[in-house]
Amino acid sequence: MARMKFLYDAERCIECNTCVTACKNENEVPWGINRRRVVTIQDGQPGERSISVACMHCSDASCMAVYPVVCFYHTEEGVVLHSKDLCIGCGYCFYACLFGMPQYPRAGNFGSRGKMDKCTFCGGGLEEDNSAAEFQKYGCNWLADGKLPLCAQMCSTRALLAGDGDVVSAIYRERVVTRGFGSGA
Ligand code: SF4
Ligand code: SF4
Repeated sequence: MARMKFLYDAERCIECNTCVTACKNENEVPWGINRRRVVTIQDGQPGERSISVACMHCSDASCMAVYPVVCFYHTEEGVVLHSKDLCIGCGYCFYACLFGMPQYPRAGNFGSRGKMDKCTFCGGGLEEDNSAAEFQKYGCNWLADGKLPLCAQMCSTRALLAGDGDVVSAIYRERVVTRGFGSGA
């Protein structure tokens, strides 16, 4: 069974934000929520680099360790998903996440932020695959159809890779060897 991972190649990212737009459009995420964003360092300066970031679907996910209700789970493919039915909008996962990826529809304190939303690896959630209920709560489910996340598919420079961790790692290793310098990821 594949273990799904993202991989970012900062040497290839042109900061076009297509990945961000594709995610928002395909998943119809509410206004103010970004499941993915592009971060640029040294903007306009020598050494400028951009990377596209979203939930990393960590094997040992810190969000799963802090939640007061058991609403997170790993799928067989290693994707971290969560139940919007069980979520109480406490915000603990946001503070635990090293990447600040959990998003909420409202600003507020414990319990007043609404249901958390984050990247699903385009893998839907705890409803029947590709049903209206699944789309309304979690967005698209491309994985159920054997397809990879749309953000990565739309990346024209292939800076953003998604898929079986062993495969994307091998692609990246080959790039580093071919161009002859460091990771930059
Ligand atoms: S689509 Fe690719 S090149 Fe464009 S911002 Fe996203 S990762 Fe970078
Ligand atoms: S995998 Fe899907 S849900 Fe996650 S950032 Fe990419 S398009 Fe958005």
